[in-house]
Amino acid sequence: MSSTAPAVQTFEDRYSLPVVETITDSPEEIRRKQERVRALAAERNAILLAHHYQRPEVQEVADAVADSLKLSQQAAKTNADVIVFCGVHFMAETASIICPGKTVLLPDLRAGCSLAAAVTPEELREWKAKLPDAVVVSYINTSAAVKAESDYCCTSANASKVVASIPADRTILFLPDKFLATVVARQTGRSNIVAYPGYCHVHKTIQPEQVSALLDEHPDIELLLHPECGCVSSCMAKAMDGTLPQDRTFFLSTEGMLRHIASSNATEFAVGTEMGILHQLNKKFPEKTFHPVNPHAVCGFMKTITLDRVIHSLETMTPEVRVPEPIATKARRAIDRMLALA
Ligand code: SF4
Repeated sequence: MSSTAPAVQTFEDRYSLPVVETITDSPEEIRRKQERVRALAAERNAILLAHHYQRPEVQEVADAVADSLKLSQQAAKTNADVIVFCGVHFMAETASIICPGKTVLLPDLRAGCSLAAAVTPEELREWKAKLPDAVVVSYINTSAAVKAESDYCCTSANASKVVASIPADRTILFLPDKFLATVVARQTGRSNIVAYPGYCHVHKTIQPEQVSALLDEHPDIELLLHPECGCVSSCMAKAMDGTLPQDRTFFLSTEGMLRHIASSNATEFAVGTEMGILHQLNKKFPEKTFHPVNPHAVCGFMKTITLDRVIHSLETMTPEVRVPEPIATKARRAIDRMLALA
């Protein structure tokens, strides 16, 4: 990868991380609240879209549980009048851009994203000015204003496909995740990707020593690592030199993990991503065993969405996320290209 990247290297002062609340509801209270959510959703003709990192009781009440790409596709095809996004702000913005005629609710506006906070539209404009002939590929974890400055949008599920579709001689500015950029550069064999130095504060804590320790304990395990993880550069190099088993080390989006597990003969997996995914894994594959690489990998932004806040949101039809024109029109071009390559 090229090194003509912005000088900023840390971004923690750009956001306030919400404290993760402990929910003490009994199973009966949870059931009652879920029934209330479903009744309100029917009344409002609303669809509930939940990300894999949501709380289990929120995943259970949703119409669809998936990764960013699949949730965007669900938003694009729904006939509902209202989309309740049980995820984070950039996801609700994306749904609003794809479905301008619908009401998009985000039950807690504190649901931001450290990765999306890493790059502002001003920073991207400055970066583009330095490399005016480059093609800009933005990860979906960016604000609508950053997407509006981008040529393509991508998710971890289709990033390599999007980059591979761009002529090989064009320099690519890839943002904001430096770890995903490493994976994409390796998978596409390109040396002309300039990576922005952003990262997700949760995935950054997933480290190569934790992967090695799990492998020592469970030698036959398959390693499933999200490309945002802090361990990817090291683990890719280790898989290449044989320190990690090359045929059992995979860099996958959350949806990719689910697909891989369904087709794998392995019975034990190391899972390197946010802890919320374990709910779907244990539910869909009860006969298999999953070991989180880092059990402390919990996203405080995702966990702001609770059943109480979903109920409040549907009762009051707030808070609504709407992306103003002309930002939405400009961002839609990059998002449409992403969906066309899904
Ligand atoms: S896990 Fe990381 S990338 Fe995903 S929403 Fe949370 S902060 Fe953003």
